Amino acid sequence: MFSIADNLSSIRKRMASACARVNRDPAGVQLIGVTKTVALDRIREGVEAGLTILGENYVQEAGKKVGALQDLEVTWHFIGHLQSNKAKTAIELFDLIHTVDRKSLARELNSLAQKRGQAVNILLQVNVGEEETKSGTSPTELSSLFSYASSLDGLSVRGLMTLPPYLDDPEQVRPFFRQLRESLDRMRDRARRPELLTELSMGMSHDFEVAIEEGATLIRVGTALFGARKAASDR
Ligand SMILES: *Cc1c(COP(=O)(O)O)cnc(C)c1O
Repeated sequence: MFSIADNLSSIRKRMASACARVNRDPAGVQLIGVTKTVALDRIREGVEAGLTILGENYVQEAGKKVGALQDLEVTWHFIGHLQSNKAKTAIELFDLIHTVDRKSLARELNSLAQKRGQAVNILLQVNVGEEETKSGTSPTELSSLFSYASSLDGLSVRGLMTLPPYLDDPEQVRPFFRQLRESLDRMRDRARRPELLTELSMGMSHDFEVAIEEGATLIRVGTALFGARKAASDR
């Protein structure tokens, strides 16, 4: 049995090697520990081992955890599908929402941000594989969603996120990661403040090294850190 600390140190080494292969500064890649279905004591162990960003998929589950782990110095990111009726709670809990995939959600977040007097940091989620079962704007609609979201003062668009098709061989996922990076480059060319558009959230336990080679700045890792989740609770 490996401890979470062992897992973390081996992931950090693999992150560093991936950076070295493509001459990237390792400081440019942040690791998000994905804690959906993970028990509080295991999350605590992860933070004590050095995790500083945690990612959650469900607003309600996150609310309980954020409350119970208030003493920890961590920031929380939202990486699940966000329903508009949970948007208010989400902006209270999370520093970055990775999954804005439609104009109606952007509009709702903007109006909540205006009321709160504080801009919300978001990423736009792109369904790079155009899979029926996945959330995310289609690549062809990204440009329109970006124009809309960046016109709203309550939103700070920081980059893009994707959940590519699952393929056993991570090399086969590479073109999807590359596609996301190229989309971000095109957005930067059009942006009023390109210096704010820096984030590419891509790469999970089985493909984060390829994602880093293709430019990921935020990788989202669950299983490789905390072990396998129970399928039934994985929703
Ligand atoms: C669960 C999840 C992850 C982590 O997946 P692992 O394969 O366990 O590393 C990353 N991103 C999203 C959006 C997820 O839902």
